[in-house]
Amino acid sequence: MSGESALQADVIVVGSGPGGATLARELAKRGKSVLLFEHGSDHRGAAYYGTYLGAMLYSDKAGLLFTQEGLNIVRPMLVGGATNMYCGCAAPPPPWFKDKYGIDIDAECAETMQELEVAPLPEAQRGNASTRIAHAAQALGYPWEPQAKFMRPARAKHFDCGAKCMLGCRCGAKWNAAEYVDEAVALGARCHTRAVVERLFVEHGQCTGVTGWLRGFPFTAHADTVVLCAGGIGTPNILRLSGFVDAGIGLTMDTTVMVYGVGKERGIGLEPPMTWSWENPGDGYMLSTLADPWLLFPMMAALRNWQYVRYWPQWKNLLGIMIKLKDDVSGRIYQDGAISKPMTLQDQKRLAEAEAVCRKILVEAGADPATLFMSPLRGTHPSGTVRIGEMLDSNLQTTMPGLYVCDASVFPEALDRPTVLTIIGLAKRLAKRLCN
Ligand SMILES: Cc1cc2nc3c(=O)[nH]c(=O)nc-3n(C[C@H](O)[C@H](O)[C@H](O)COP(=O)(O)OP(=O)(O)OC[C@H]3O[C@@H](n4cnc5c(N)ncnc54)[C@H](O)[C@@H]3O)c2cc1C
Repeated sequence: MSGESALQADVIVVGSGPGGATLARELAKRGKSVLLFEHGSDHRGAAYYGTYLGAMLYSDKAGLLFTQEGLNIVRPMLVGGATNMYCGCAAPPPPWFKDKYGIDIDAECAETMQELEVAPLPEAQRGNASTRIAHAAQALGYPWEPQAKFMRPARAKHFDCGAKCMLGCRCGAKWNAAEYVDEAVALGARCHTRAVVERLFVEHGQCTGVTGWLRGFPFTAHADTVVLCAGGIGTPNILRLSGFVDAGIGLTMDTTVMVYGVGKERGIGLEPPMTWSWENPGDGYMLSTLADPWLLFPMMAALRNWQYVRYWPQWKNLLGIMIKLKDDVSGRIYQDGAISKPMTLQDQKRLAEAEAVCRKILVEAGADPATLFMSPLRGTHPSGTVRIGEMLDSNLQTTMPGLYVCDASVFPEALDRPTVLTIIGLAKRLAKRLCN
């Protein structure tokens, strides 16, 4: 570990999810000295990595983080951020990103897709039951398509990706932002784990560093530029403690629910997650094939209603569709860590419409109509807490000189699609700007 005097760099990056990891890598590539601070540890390679125990160890509140309204937020906190537990889906930024906000990251996203060989899984690996659901949807007139993935079965030791890859990928097929951290470190960036940044260090109105706790000891680090990439919850917390009173007021979540049904044939539980999807921006939702891992299923079912736990023994025959909603900006993150994320009337209307479509598709795919039920609300994309156009300009700069934000918190509205490719694109664009 470096001593106090070594905590100086051209750029400080806070958080090592896709935003922070990409930025650190791109800046290091361009010869900048970079200090990267990450709240969590690097759990890759540990025996528990990718298990239920592991997921509890590296998720905020052991996975039991709930909003005041009861929405469960999954918030992984470790090197690589939420990409340790994501489903590996990739989607380009929505057209409105460019049309409405003037942010063009098409080139950066295309470069990333080529570099990481982003593509749908080969046909044989999309899963029979997942494909059955997609074909049922197509037969009903919904144009589902194979989902592009940050997943390369060819680089896996033994590709056995089931829904359990949401606990952390053990087979090596799924790309994780921690790989960009490794590259950044190889290029000279200094990454400090178990480093909790608390607030900004400000001199004469300019941000010149951060302060916090490094492995239990107080620290201050200095740089000409600070970029907060601590995610949709972490970043507004740091900003608010540093005097930005509007940070964390209003958030989006791409709120998700699962609609389940039990069929006679083998279900999707052991198949890779989200191999088929349908984006429906007109009605404000996206649908994908997905089921909770075996041990999580009864917990989620019980949270909805104890009677649904009776389907646990039939988990191997489970068919599931995940709804991802384009939810309104609502609620807030409070100073004491409490989070509120109410569903607006519009959100409820969108959800009801999406649920009706899912029910039709599941029955067409062979689910017994008597077994259909919807899981409780969940949030895996906390975002939109430090929004472009309100707290940030389109270059991700705050009103304080020297201070930028580059993570999911910058989204001006719910993306309603996988976020990671957009975040990587934003980070690549910002890195270029900071080096000009
Ligand atoms: C179960 C699940 C499935 C998902 N599936 C997909 C998918 O298929 N495709 C997709 O595109 N997206 C998916 N997502 C969403 C995606 O992973 C996140 O939106 C994305 O990782 C957010 O990136 P980020 O850089 O904003 O922050 P994060 O990935 O959240 O990283 C932020 C990092 O900052 C650290 N941090 C926080 N506070 C501090 C602090 N004070 N000091 C220092 N460090 C701090 C955290 O520990 C964390 O490691 C999924 C998410 C989950 C949870």
